[in-house]
Amino acid sequence: MVADKAVDSTKEDNKKADILSSTRTVVKEALEKLGYPDEVFELLKDPIRMITVRIPVRMDDGSIKVFTGYRAQHNDAVGPTKGGIRFHPNVTETEVKALSIWMSLKAGIVDLPYGGGKGGIVCDPREMSFRELEGLSRGYVRAISQIVGPNKDIPAPDVFTNSQIMAWMMDEYSRIDEFNSPGFITGKPIVLGGSHGRESATAKGVTICINEAAKKKGMDIKDARIVVQGFGNAGSFLAKFLHDLGAKIVGISDAYGALHDPDGLDIDYLLDRRDSFGTVTKLFNTTITNEQLLELDCDILVPAAVENQITVNNAHDIKASIVVEAANGPTTMEATKILTEREILLVPDVMASSGGVTVSYFEWVQNNQGYYWTEEEIDKKLHEIMIKSFNQIYNTAKTRRVDMRLAAYMVGVRKMAEASRFRGWV
Ligand code: GLU
Repeated sequence: MVADKAVDSTKEDNKKADILSSTRTVVKEALEKLGYPDEVFELLKDPIRMITVRIPVRMDDGSIKVFTGYRAQHNDAVGPTKGGIRFHPNVTETEVKALSIWMSLKAGIVDLPYGGGKGGIVCDPREMSFRELEGLSRGYVRAISQIVGPNKDIPAPDVFTNSQIMAWMMDEYSRIDEFNSPGFITGKPIVLGGSHGRESATAKGVTICINEAAKKKGMDIKDARIVVQGFGNAGSFLAKFLHDLGAKIVGISDAYGALHDPDGLDIDYLLDRRDSFGTVTKLFNTTITNEQLLELDCDILVPAAVENQITVNNAHDIKASIVVEAANGPTTMEATKILTEREILLVPDVMASSGGVTVSYFEWVQNNQGYYWTEEEIDKKLHEIMIKSFNQIYNTAKTRRVDMRLAAYMVGVRKMAEASRFRGWV
């Protein structure tokens, strides 16, 4: 049993190492295409700051458990670093590094005054009580408090973290800072300075990208058959938005299995039955596997779960003509090549999932000015930014004859590289 676990965690480490090395490869390629010298890559291939913390938490049974957490700050030439905190048993230092680079790229793509950051804690929140999660959240903030802050590094939700966790973290930071500091973190509940539209922002941004991608392929979203992998924050809101637009959601999944109905699933029913971690398939007898889900007959495939889902093993069998990455890193580099050769339009994660950080930026601006916007204002601003960025990347891909991932990296890295040079760093 112990040996199996060790093999599993080595496998996990290798996968994460692959993610970091392929991210670096594309960053290098993007910088070369833009004509930057190698020292710019040397600076950007790793976070400028990365800390590991140990967080002791008193568990409900009276024992003390010590958790490991990380915070990576990729590059702060443009402005404070920004990015979520994930609570997951498979979190590794390498993964957090890669995720912080992706956050820098996202901020560059939607042109926010930020660099990228990311945090993670190795834990399984599905097996922890409310009280234990509060202890862990507060302990993490105490451990990283010296390097974060409203003008240094601004955290947010990510996998398995939510507005309640942001509220505890904001409260802990405010006690340390001795001020009410809502701008320290985004994704808060509305009553604590959260923004309208933040919870559904990632899915809203993905929906806008799907719509734009469909237009390029001459497809009407109302006639589209869509598969959404994952039913967490992004996947569940996304299924709802697409369903409300008239699309047929023919497949969805969670960590335990997947559901398929060629006539379209009853999304409202599924949303009603899902638990707070997005689990719903356990309630059904006739499920398919996640592997089968990805190869279903459909027009648009949206991986909205975790990394490494579309690989050399299944890229040839994807039936969709559009793949929009709502998750971070769902397609490997080799699979990206295969999908591009097969003329499948692939909208990369750093573009498609940037709606979340965009509305986080709106939340931070509102906190800083103490003046709050309506949902309509937020929606309008998000639409403008996403449509502009999507088309900038689409056009870059066309004119530079590169795939959309490389185009997105070129757009995303440029401002950060330029700012680092102006500051005299490289
Ligand atoms: N965790 C989200 C992401 O990966 C949001 C980050 C944020 O809002 O700062 O984009």
